[in-house]
Amino acid sequence: MANNHQPFESWIFMPGDLTAGDQQALQEHLKECESCQQLAQALQGVESRLRAAPELSPTPGFTARWESRLAADRIRRQRLQTYWVMQVCIGGATFLLLLTVLMVLPSLRLPMPVLLAWGYQIFGVFSYFGSLGKAALTITGTLLGAIPITLWIAILVAMCSLSALWLVAFQRLTAPRRVAQ
Ligand SMILES: [Zn+2]
Repeated sequence: MANNHQPFESWIFMPGDLTAGDQQALQEHLKECESCQQLAQALQGVESRLRAAPELSPTPGFTARWESRLAADRIRRQRLQTYWVMQVCIGGATFLLLLTVLMVLPSLRLPMPVLLAWGYQIFGVFSYFGSLGKAALTITGTLLGAIPITLWIAILVAMCSLSALWLVAFQRLTAPRRVAQ
């Protein structure tokens, strides 16, 4: 139950596209779920700041309607971008966590000493890369030391891009039906 934030989490970012029933369900969920409530409040804070920005405030008179529609489109796009960036960050963090778990998984046996061993191993991995980087910088400065790290970063970037692509495709497939406006 604690993790059951979908589809509400994505609905928070597209309230204009929801049916009345979906809106109702979202409001019900927000009453009970502190995490989604915080997300909605954070988004509201961002949006009110966007609206307060001078280029987004509609000018009175003839062009007001046209301009407020532009502003609404812009807010919608920014809202989607914020959502994607958040998803990519979460995806990247999950990937890193998974990688760490996979690295220390073989030592999974006893609770307490294993926890200490995990900490030691993680620390060891970090200091290994740390000293590798230091050696590359201070001692040789040649490509030999930099290649593994560069490769590592390239793989990470590629994985992040792939997961971003996947998330976009996933969002397209699972997006709540859009209401024509
Ligand atoms: Zn929730």
